[in-house]
Amino acid sequence: MLDFLEPVDFSEATALLSEYGDEAKVIAGGTSVVLMLQQKFIAPSVLISLGRVSGWDFVRVEPDDLHIGALTSLREAELSPVLHQFCPALTHTFRVVGNVRVRNQATLGGNLSAADYAADPPAMLTVLGARVRLLGPEGMREVPLSEFFLGFYTTVLEPTEILSEVIIPTIPETARSAYFKYTSISAEGRPCVAVGALADFEDDGKCRDLRVAVGAAVETPQRVDSAEEMAHGQALTDELIAAIADEYARTLDPLSDVRGSAWYREEMIRVFVKRAVEEVRDGNR
Ligand SMILES: Cc1cc2nc3c(=O)[nH]c(=O)nc-3n(C[C@H](O)[C@H](O)[C@H](O)COP(=O)(O)OP(=O)(O)OC[C@H]3O[C@@H](n4cnc5c(N)ncnc54)[C@H](O)[C@@H]3O)c2cc1C
Repeated sequence: MLDFLEPVDFSEATALLSEYGDEAKVIAGGTSVVLMLQQKFIAPSVLISLGRVSGWDFVRVEPDDLHIGALTSLREAELSPVLHQFCPALTHTFRVVGNVRVRNQATLGGNLSAADYAADPPAMLTVLGARVRLLGPEGMREVPLSEFFLGFYTTVLEPTEILSEVIIPTIPETARSAYFKYTSISAEGRPCVAVGALADFEDDGKCRDLRVAVGAAVETPQRVDSAEEMAHGQALTDELIAAIADEYARTLDPLSDVRGSAWYREEMIRVFVKRAVEEVRDGNR
C-alpha cells in the first residue's frame, strides 16, 4: 500500500518528511521517481507530492541575481523571457533536456535533487555560480551548487529538507556564456558530456575570468582551476584554447557507461571544452 500525501506548502511537506522518515519519498514532476518505483529501486510507503504546493514556480530577477523556484518546470524555464534576457545559454541548457514531454513535467528542483550525473542543468548552473536554498524543520540554508552534489545520486539534502529555490548571481555585461551537450546515443538522449562555459573580458579583449564546468562524464560537475587560470589576463588564442581543453581532458577522470568509455569521454571532453571556450570567445553574450 502506497499513501499519496499532498501538502499545500513546503513547511507542511518538511513536517511530513520528519513524521514519516525513511518511509517517505518526495515526488515533484515524477519523471524520475515513477521510473524508480517501476524498476523497484525504491519502495517507500508514503509519497509526499509537491504538486499542490503553490507559489514556487517562478523566474524572477532581483537586483543582484535571478531566482528560479524549485517547482518551475524545465519547459517554463526554457520559455521564460526573463531567463533568456538574463542568460541565453541557460535557456539553451533547459531547451536541450530530453524532449518537450519530459520538460513539461520535470521540475528544476527535481532535476538537481535527483543528482543524476547524466543531466544538463548542473554543469551550466555550476559555471554560473548558482546556489540552492534548502528548507527544513530547522529553517533555511543556502548551499553553493558546487557543494550540493556529493556523488552519484547523492546530495547534501538532509532527509527532512526540500530544495525550494535556485539563485544565480547577475552575470557581468561584458561576459559571454555557452552550453554544449554531446549525446552519443540519440539526439534527445541524456548527455555523454556536458560543458558549461562563462568568460568575462577586459576592454582590450583579454580574458578577465574563465570558468568551465564539465558534467555527465564525471560523477559531479567539475571545474579545473589550473586550466581556468591559464586564461587569466590572456587573449584566448586557438593555441591557448587547445591547451586549456587538453588540461581538462588530462585532469578529469571520466567514467565509463553505456554512453561511452572513459577513453572516449576523455577525447570528447577535449573536443567540447574547446568548442565551448571558442564559443564564449567568438559568440554574442
Ligand atoms: C525520457 C527522459 C529523458 C530525460 N532526458 C534528460 C536529459 O536529456 N537531460 C537531463 O538533464 N535530464 C533528463 N531527464 C531527467 C529529468 O530531467 C529528471 O527526471 C527531472 O528533471 C526530475 O524532475 P522531477 O520534477 O520529475 O523530479 P521527481 O521525479 O519528482 O524527483 C526526482 C528526485 O528528486 C527528489 N525531489 C524532487 N523535488 C524535490 C525538491 N524540491 N526538494 C527535494 N527533493 C526533491 C525526489 O524525491 C527524487 O529523489 C530525462 C528523463 C526522462 C524520463
